[in-house]
Amino acid sequence: WHDKLLGGFRRTSDRLVGNLAGLGLARFDEATLDEIEEALIASDLGPETAARIRGRLAEGSYERDMEELGIRLVVAEEVEKALARVATPLEIEAFPRPQVILVIGVNGSGKTTTIAKLAHLLTEQDYSVMLVAGDTFRAAAIGQLKVWAERIGVPIVSGEQGGDAAGLVYEGVKRGTAEGTDVLIVDTAGRLQNKRELMDELAKVRRVLGRLNPAAPHDVVLVLDATTGQNALSQIEVFKESAGVTGLVMTKLDGTARGGVLVAAAEKFGLPIHAIGVGETIEDFRPFDAHEVARIIA
Ligand code: GDP
Repeated sequence: WHDKLLGGFRRTSDRLVGNLAGLGLARFDEATLDEIEEALIASDLGPETAARIRGRLAEGSYERDMEELGIRLVVAEEVEKALARVATPLEIEAFPRPQVILVIGVNGSGKTTTIAKLAHLLTEQDYSVMLVAGDTFRAAAIGQLKVWAERIGVPIVSGEQGGDAAGLVYEGVKRGTAEGTDVLIVDTAGRLQNKRELMDELAKVRRVLGRLNPAAPHDVVLVLDATTGQNALSQIEVFKESAGVTGLVMTKLDGTARGGVLVAAAEKFGLPIHAIGVGETIEDFRPFDAHEVARIIA
């Protein structure tokens, strides 16, 4: 997966180094620094981190300190600083059980796959997991989640397309409580085209959960597609307040040049980042590690 992830991030510093090589500068001039800063922002790195990197490069002499390696190191260090503040594993600690994790995100972001990956990871850590197929608008989503549940070997609460998601969630909590399930992972609808309806539905699910257990949902995890770049940022904007997002998972960090958006998201919203998706299989899921991700950039 390292190689796959490299595809996403390396281009940020590669482009930088490529542009600077052969300039023969003894020191970065203002115009070059402007260009560097723009390139970093164009990589979705976020203005604060870009400005910090610019500042550090401005201090150094290009020939002495800022060989290719030096530039990579500065980028990696500043990226790590920005990411370290938000790297937060998803803790399973709720009592009474189950811990309810509501998974939200727009269609196509990788929500269903992420639920499967998370369920698989938790099962491997010996937690008992139950799924709720709460995206009742899409027959395909229900079917897909059922297939995953069977493959992973976890129970799933599902209904017909067009059914009442809040009712399913109610059933899930009841059944999870009765069976002593550790974690209940709830899929939700993701049609951003009808924002009002979507938010109403999420609010209804939250109300039902809260009535059963005032602490639920314990987590509201927003799934974002890294390949959408700046779009991911506007999705956080939309969901953060109205859906009470508590943390993020960034998918499709394999084979994308837009991984920098992680840094921009960290900078702008400060929301915990729990994990990253690095492929389509169930194993392609990594707890978020700032050092690991940042070193890959350098
Ligand atoms: P949903 O509509 O949000 O539920 O999205 P899905 O889970 O169905 O995923 C949409 C597509 O993205 C599918 O083809 C997935 O296999 C793919 N996908 C999901 N996560 C990742 C990831 O981390 N990397 C890659 N390369 N593909 C992913």
